[in-house]
Amino acid sequence: MAKLSNEEIINKSEDIRNQLELSLDLPIDIFAECLKIKNITIVERPLSENISGICIKGNSSSCIIEINSTMSYGRKRFTLAHELYHYYFSKEAFIVCNKSFVDVSDEESNANHFASYFLMPKFALRKFIKEKCDDKIELTSILAMENYFQVSRKTLLIRLKSDKRISEEEMVPFTVNIIINAKKNGYSDKLYVPEEGEKKTTLGEYIRLCEALLDKDLISKAKYEELLLDAGRADIVFGEEKENYE
Ligand SMILES: [Zn+2]
Repeated sequence: MAKLSNEEIINKSEDIRNQLELSLDLPIDIFAECLKIKNITIVERPLSENISGICIKGNSSSCIIEINSTMSYGRKRFTLAHELYHYYFSKEAFIVCNKSFVDVSDEESNANHFASYFLMPKFALRKFIKEKCDDKIELTSILAMENYFQVSRKTLLIRLKSDKRISEEEMVPFTVNIIINAKKNGYSDKLYVPEEGEKKTTLGEYIRLCEALLDKDLISKAKYEELLLDAGRADIVFGEEKENYE
């Protein structure tokens, strides 16, 4: 798809928020929301350093979204929103997405803009800056914004620049000492620190399909376990979890 205008991207992001029955003025738990979409499987696993995610669409509306598990939580959330654009709007069935924001194709740029507006709807961000940040863009307000919308620093700064709230020059001081400043202001470093994502894990439709195949005797118990182990779900096969009903 050719490069879409800001307005077209905003419309698409709002359409999908509406379709998923999400309000336009609140942050979202994007992992939980994507898992509510019947046909989506989310796989987190280590990918090449320059790859953020992969979108693989099947013949029906089934879709596997792979997320590079070694990225920060903030960047994983952005990647999932980016892949959601591919799920709904891209024609290609197999899309590998580069971590970099520069020199990307029109469709990658569309997906990045979509992710930004999907996680931070135009109205919600404007309202937050006005009501919670006294309409000022400074370190404390940037920390408040990214922790409210749960996005990485880069995602937020790119958006503020695109919205003409900050210039390229004004961005510079906010690109360093991110973690220590977050900690000093009482925030967790979860959004910013790369996760130790050596393990693979799978959530969503794939797991439900494994269960259904076993239930209907279409696969053996051994095959079922093999499929789950392949998906990084030894916890289901070996029942390592302790029940905790509190
Ligand atoms: Zn992409």
